[in-house]
Amino acid sequence: MIKGFNTICTHAGELEDEQYKGAVSPLYMSSSYAYEGVEQKRYPRYFNTPNQEAIAKKLAALEQTAGALVFGSGMAAVSTALLAFLSKGDHVVLQRTLYGGTFNLVVEEFEKFGIEYSFAGGLEKGDFEKAVQPNTKVIYVETPSNPLLGITDLKMVAAVAREHNLVSMIDNTFASPVNQNPSQFGIDIVIHSATKYLGGHSDILAGAVCASDEHIEKVFSLGKNLGGNLSDYTVWLLERSIKTLGLRVKAQNKNALKMAKFLKKHKAVSRVFYPGLKDHPGHEIAKEQMNGFGGMLSFELDEAIDVSAFLEGLKLIKPSMSLAGVESTILSPAKTSHALVPAEELEQQGISDRLLRFSLGIEDKKDLFGDIEQALQEAGYKG
Ligand SMILES: *Cc1c(COP(=O)(O)O)cnc(C)c1O
Repeated sequence: MIKGFNTICTHAGELEDEQYKGAVSPLYMSSSYAYEGVEQKRYPRYFNTPNQEAIAKKLAALEQTAGALVFGSGMAAVSTALLAFLSKGDHVVLQRTLYGGTFNLVVEEFEKFGIEYSFAGGLEKGDFEKAVQPNTKVIYVETPSNPLLGITDLKMVAAVAREHNLVSMIDNTFASPVNQNPSQFGIDIVIHSATKYLGGHSDILAGAVCASDEHIEKVFSLGKNLGGNLSDYTVWLLERSIKTLGLRVKAQNKNALKMAKFLKKHKAVSRVFYPGLKDHPGHEIAKEQMNGFGGMLSFELDEAIDVSAFLEGLKLIKPSMSLAGVESTILSPAKTSHALVPAEELEQQGISDRLLRFSLGIEDKKDLFGDIEQALQEAGYKG
């Protein structure tokens, strides 16, 4: 019955309102449930309230995995997943271009747990293989990556994991399940910051882990002890948000592709990074593993343009730290998300102070183009 992506978004996992026959899942706020024996304890921290179980079914259906767990934030999902498969003396290989919070978790916290780590030098197979050690247990990637939209080959990552007997993990936040289902390429654990596309309205904080029953059991086992759970009220809001996930993200994909082409042609823009453009280094792999190229892009303004004046001149597109909402937002990575990264590392990653990361919303493209154009005029563009 439930096969198509939009049908999954609207119906998968929904709870029936047996009492009043209402159209949407009832919200059960109880944190205390009748005791039904040792095996049957319902408690929010055990990920098994009615609404938590319902959203888990929807998340698993979206990512085509057997199971899923919902968390209180993307970082609760990332940290619980990583620590579930890493013990003292183990080693993890990570992609170098990672979400800042994940990078901080690794470099600030892992040492005290006795967990070793290496960052792969690039996105090629050899870069990852070179970083693998005899005690490596996990390989962790993120594609498309932040902020340059680098593309990592998921089949390659799954192959490296198989050859070295590693658990493979991906942060699939930027793609969303609309554009990429990594489990279909052999990736074991799929993680989301549901704060982004799954939530989609810039108003909730949540995370998700999707995987096989066996892997979910391990994440659950640690998760119930760490306690990074999501309140049932927010679970219910997340269910509501996901109903429009397919519609939203397809509109965002479309806007991003059109904006990428618009910026590419613009004389005030020197470079555009978007996997949907033919000259993007990851375009061919993106075509193979993605259903759409996503709603995120980044671009560099020409030397003649005052970057701060441009950002201040925008009237519709909001300067904002977060991303993936239905409203378009923009930020300067060098001044915000990557402000604490040393200049040398920034240069190595190709992040200049003229680079802007653009999260496309669902507004009409004419208005978005118009806003960019008028802000460029404000910032000294004479075209
Ligand atoms: C935002 C984000 C996270 C962290 O999610 P929170 O919900 O803020 O904890 C992780 N990975 C990526 C790619 C993100 O964009």
